[in-house]
Amino acid sequence: MAVLPVVDMHACMPLLPRQTLATRWHFQALAHNRLVTRYCGHCERHQFPPLDWCPGCGARDSRWRELAGTGTLYASTRMHAVADAFRPFAPVTVGVVDLVEGVRVLAWLLSPELVPDAPVQLVSLRFDDGNLLGARLLEETT
Ligand SMILES: [Zn+2]
Repeated sequence: MAVLPVVDMHACMPLLPRQTLATRWHFQALAHNRLVTRYCGHCERHQFPPLDWCPGCGARDSRWRELAGTGTLYASTRMHAVADAFRPFAPVTVGVVDLVEGVRVLAWLLSPELVPDAPVQLVSLRFDDGNLLGARLLEETT
């Protein structure tokens, strides 16, 4: 099982993520620095964000699977004008990452200089009150 590298943020989260019954296990795994999502055995696809049903075929018996946490950067944007809660972190760069398992995730980009197609590693951003997904250049170490 892959454990995501941890990056301590030394702050509270700017916004608490909205958790549902369908995403609860994802956030509980992320609190332990693991990345999980739902996998549908009928159409053999991962789905993200996790849902109670498969958007590909409508099946309702998908299972949780752990993901490697690596992929390539699809796109990113750097925000200088941010909501009040994000001001201590500005400018904030977020990236859309295509994971090797075929799902696309949004992550706080710790390597703002990255360009599309760069290899990235997801990390667990450890805030004082929970964890969020981050991403950085794959070759970087903690
Ligand atoms: Zn399916």
